Amino acid sequence: MIEKTGVPSLEQVKQEFPDKVVLKKPKAIIECYKEIPCNPCHTSCPFDAIFIPEDINVRPKIDFDKCTGCGICVYNCPGLAIMVTQIKEGKILMKIPYEFTPLPKVDQTVNVVNRAGEKISEGIVRKVQLSEKQNKTALIHIELDEKYAYEAITIEVLHGS
Ligand code: SF4
Ligand code: SF4
Repeated sequence: MIEKTGVPSLEQVKQEFPDKVVLKKPKAIIECYKEIPCNPCHTSCPFDAIFIPEDINVRPKIDFDKCTGCGICVYNCPGLAIMVTQIKEGKILMKIPYEFTPLPKVDQTVNVVNRAGEKISEGIVRKVQLSEKQNKTALIHIELDEKYAYEAITIEVLHGS
């Protein structure tokens, strides 16, 4: 599917997720589906949780036991191909990369969209993280219903809302 539309199938997406039990703690989900010469996810992780071998074209592999969900790889990935996800009390808490301005505000309701760019739900912004070291890629923390765990990928901010 990704070859024709640029959108991965649900099966492809699910392959990148760990068990829901593992997702009780925040974990990085890497959706880097193509072999490309890139490795900032590997070099930026302070916990050595992302592995790319000597051949830099090989797709990154994550060790969920080592990942703390800190989000550093999320803002270091130039392809915006990583998010952090946690499932807690019927909600998903996501940390997504965001490079548009103006940034959303804490407690703002935003549209949550799927990998095809379609609105699937609303979510609430819980935190907006942007420091010097993030090189202008903000981390937006979003909370929404758990049922969208495999569909939600990013947000659409309607300014003035
Ligand atoms: S979220 Fe943090 S610990 Fe997990 S892979 Fe990314 S940088 Fe490493
Ligand atoms: S930094 Fe992002 S685009 Fe580059 S290999 Fe890692 S996940 Fe893929």
